[in-house]
Amino acid sequence: MRDEKPLFEVLDVALEKLNSCQCEKQYEKDGCYKCIYAYKNNFDRPLISKRKAIEVIQNILTARENIKKVESVSDVNSDSLSESVLEELFMVKLKNICSNWKPIITSRGHSGYLFEIIDKDNNKYTYEIEQQVELTQEENVQVYSKADFVIYPIKNKDMKPIAIFTDGFAFHEDRVDIDSSQRMAIVKSSNYLVWSLTWEDINEYDKKKSDYKYENYFNEKHLNIKQFRKLYKENKEFLQYSNMELLLELLTSNNINIWNLSSTKIKLK
Ligand SMILES: [Zn+2]
Repeated sequence: MRDEKPLFEVLDVALEKLNSCQCEKQYEKDGCYKCIYAYKNNFDRPLISKRKAIEVIQNILTARENIKKVESVSDVNSDSLSESVLEELFMVKLKNICSNWKPIITSRGHSGYLFEIIDKDNNKYTYEIEQQVELTQEENVQVYSKADFVIYPIKNKDMKPIAIFTDGFAFHEDRVDIDSSQRMAIVKSSNYLVWSLTWEDINEYDKKKSDYKYENYFNEKHLNIKQFRKLYKENKEFLQYSNMELLLELLTSNNINIWNLSSTKIKLK
């Protein structure tokens, strides 16, 4: 495309159309046939959101002044772009709930951050976090991978470091097998816990009114939920927790044994 103007004109019109549609007021809907739905996308309906579309278009239009010319779109790695935004967002949201956060050279000699989280009983837990951490055979990880983050617990030998992967907008259809073999290898090393966070997990976290109804794996039908509910009689809210909230739960309990206990009590039917 030689001239960027027509693209922005189209986006301007689209944003105006989305913003002016009254569907959410009339039917409390996140889109309708007048603004974003088409009959041919009937089956993708759960993935279509007017609010998300407004957010995305607004972000593009806000960046209108800063666009740069590239030779070819193949020069742009949109995956790494969206994932770096997601990583940034994760850091911001984590920092927001910390009582202390400062840049340091970590115990392993890398640049990173030291952070502290205080639980509701005023216990303080300290961690180090590093970004883009290579996991290799040296750590007994047999399939090489690079974690987006690793959180290292300080002064708690029972807790393991947590390797965190943020999975951006794109569903990595072409690399599910690589992703899972990498993540399984990390688990098998016995040296790390593995945590995967999606865009929704991170973006919706700490929003007053979440746009996204999260159902975590505890709600899976093949699990024996009865057993689980008994285990968490007083903590039923866990059933609705996103992976981000579960991660923070782990960081503020700083106790992996609770998790081990719950995983052994959940049995397959
Ligand atoms: Zn509408």
